[in-house]
Amino acid sequence: MSTLTEKKSARPTKRSQGRPLPELIFGDLWEFDPAPETADPKLKPRYELFIGGKFVAPASGKYFDSTNPANETKIAEFALGGAADVDAAYAAAQKAQPAWAKLPGKERAKYLYRIARLLQDRAREFAVAETMDNGKPIKETRDFDVPMAAAHFFYHAGWADKLEYVAPGRRVAPLGIVGQVIPWNFPLLMMAWKLAPALAVGNCAVIKPATNTPLSALKLAEIIQDAGLPPGVVNILTGPGSTGGAIMAHPLAAKIAFTGSTDVGKVIMRSVAGTEKRMTMELGGKAANIVFDDAPLDQAVEGIVNGIFFNQGQVCCAGSRLLVHEPVADAVVAKLKNRLRVLRVGDPLDKNTDVGAIVSRDQLETVQGYLDAGVKEGATMWQPPCRLPKKGFYLPPTIFTGVTQSHRIAREEIFGPVLSIITFRTVDEAIEKANNTAYGLSAGVWTDKGSRILKMSTELKAGVVWANTFNKFDPTSPFGGYKESGFGREGGRQGLLDYCRLV
Ligand code: NAD
Repeated sequence: MSTLTEKKSARPTKRSQGRPLPELIFGDLWEFDPAPETADPKLKPRYELFIGGKFVAPASGKYFDSTNPANETKIAEFALGGAADVDAAYAAAQKAQPAWAKLPGKERAKYLYRIARLLQDRAREFAVAETMDNGKPIKETRDFDVPMAAAHFFYHAGWADKLEYVAPGRRVAPLGIVGQVIPWNFPLLMMAWKLAPALAVGNCAVIKPATNTPLSALKLAEIIQDAGLPPGVVNILTGPGSTGGAIMAHPLAAKIAFTGSTDVGKVIMRSVAGTEKRMTMELGGKAANIVFDDAPLDQAVEGIVNGIFFNQGQVCCAGSRLLVHEPVADAVVAKLKNRLRVLRVGDPLDKNTDVGAIVSRDQLETVQGYLDAGVKEGATMWQPPCRLPKKGFYLPPTIFTGVTQSHRIAREEIFGPVLSIITFRTVDEAIEKANNTAYGLSAGVWTDKGSRILKMSTELKAGVVWANTFNKFDPTSPFGGYKESGFGREGGRQGLLDYCRLV
């Protein structure tokens, strides 16, 4: 938390009535009663590795803790998987794969449907567990992460017996064993994005969740076991980056699928260069959210807020650069500030919370480093007055005005609740500024003109372009990047193709 925020934290509460208010505000966070979610997350004190359908201790005998970023308390301990465990996981997958691939598609589908339904049955429990492990608001895990994860299993179950339509005229075969590594920002959803398409085609998987957020992956392992999935079809290993490295480099991996930072993606690409492994990379982003003067501004402001403050801005496709048309720039910034003043920052388990905790102390410090850089380079920082919990890793929603394209906060992926605002005068200038980035994952366009939407979506170098909305996802829709945001697609028919061999 910055000193600036500390000073501004005197919000008008009931106690402050009668005294002058520090500034005009439109709501009062502190007048809401806390409404914590009470569902039991059914936690175990210790989680083992999931190999060959069983929960097994790591060869090293070592464990690490996962802590709740909202209050810094320990959640549980997790097995520290190493190279020997990775070998065991691939051996289990190798044993399972031929029979899994030979199963008729409609039989494979039944397992995926079962996983989806069991996830729905335990949705509240999963939402609480995910919020505790990651710090994201319960209303997001409850309404987005968990239902969307189930939707991915449902969607791909539907494909399992229709694979002939993935590539008409070709026979579709599985690749074999896939090695998968995922990040911490959507822990359960990324498990579903990776596992559902791989399994639908007849592949087996060895997968590692992020070190910070292993909980929902191991809870999903319980569901996989309960669904009766044949042992070895899915193997889940927890551990640090080196465990991920061993999964990616393993000689039995026919394909590797990585979601994470561009820097780690490059390390992995170098490590498998020269092998025959297929690869998909879902990496970082620095999306432009572009607002024209003819846009419905109130709706656009909601889209800007959702674009950058959803999941505390820890989203690869976050609209972290607001490009705003000069004639409406002042109006948009004023409306945005008013909206941010009523965002509720705090306990992620509270159903009223809009902005929860940052995933870890390290990540909080990284984001704070960007705030310092933004101020140092000459941009103007603004945060709404807000009182942050004393424990845990919190940051108020932050906007920067007066940003130029050369500022670090305009070029680098911050991965936090920080918006950099840049103005433009013409359509071409907006396109040029939006594309002036090493990344190319997503973009948003807000305008009343259909022709402008078509022009922008053709010329923006981004895998996803949202028009008059932002952060909308659907399992039927392929997702993936251009340039340093990676290659390959996840979701839809295109995503499935990345798990198939065409013969
Ligand atoms: P990260 O790259 O630090 O870690 C991602 C995963 O890789 C973790 O499981 C980590 O343990 C593992 N890992 C670390 N070093 C490794 C190595 N040398 N070999 C193999 N695995 C290794 O990323 P993060 O901080 O967990 O996640 C944030 C990043 O993920 C952001 O850059 C974000 O944009 C990106 N992301 C991209 C998408 C997408 O679809 N494009 C989606 C979500 C997140």
